[in-house]
Amino acid sequence: MKTIQGPLITILMLIVTINAVSQEKGQYTWNGHQCAVALTYDDGLNVHLDLVAPTLDSAGLKATFYIPGNALSLRNRLNDWRTLAKNGHELGNHTLFHPCAGDLPGREWVNPDYDLSTYTMKRMLDEIRLANTLLQSIDGRTKRTFAYTCGEEMVEGMSLNSEIAEDFVGARGVVPKTMEIGEVVMFDIGAFMVSGQTGEALIAMVEKARKDFSLIVFIFHGVGGEHAINVDLAEHNKLLRYLKENERDIWVATMADIAEFVMAHQMSLERLEGHE
Ligand SMILES: [Zn+2]
Repeated sequence: MKTIQGPLITILMLIVTINAVSQEKGQYTWNGHQCAVALTYDDGLNVHLDLVAPTLDSAGLKATFYIPGNALSLRNRLNDWRTLAKNGHELGNHTLFHPCAGDLPGREWVNPDYDLSTYTMKRMLDEIRLANTLLQSIDGRTKRTFAYTCGEEMVEGMSLNSEIAEDFVGARGVVPKTMEIGEVVMFDIGAFMVSGQTGEALIAMVEKARKDFSLIVFIFHGVGGEHAINVDLAEHNKLLRYLKENERDIWVATMADIAEFVMAHQMSLERLEGHE
């Protein structure tokens, strides 16, 4: 007995230490996973319905689709979007007319009728709220997230962030960064633009987030075509395969589900701090 007591105590102490370290690092903070991944697809493209959604569904992964109200695919394929929402994906708000500032260099393509630099805050909020009504009429949901069009968060020189706080559970920005759960700013969630990366490069980004116990958000546009900002379908699918294979450690969820989870976590931390 005496001979094993020493090593046994050492092992027990080691287990206690490892537990303390992993709790401190928030190893399972993300709904019981090491990290969280949000896959987001912008601008309501046909390839999202034809190529992306079937691949996600066969892997059982949920994603967010930011669809402007004037997307042609919304008019032409309303039932397909309804089915996509029924399958557990989020229809995210991306305004009605996708306004972007036309007074920046290289913005000749901006339609003068929907030039964000000429918008009032009231007009932008009206547009965003009408887009919510439109999306609710398709999916029946009242909780969703917003994605700033062209990543622009200022209207009339004022920040849109606090103006839409009552309308959404969170909003996606365009600052490329991963975030630990306490670092997430609900109405300016960092995200990485995907444009031409290989599957290996995308997987390496998730691996890094996993090491840091962080959230990583990807912004896709074209997948296998249909947009100037594009990723090869095969490379995109490599990422999805990796996420599926590692689903025990990686939480893949919609932006709305992740935002609600983060908010609840941050509020419980605030309550704890309030009791100290
Ligand atoms: Zn967009």
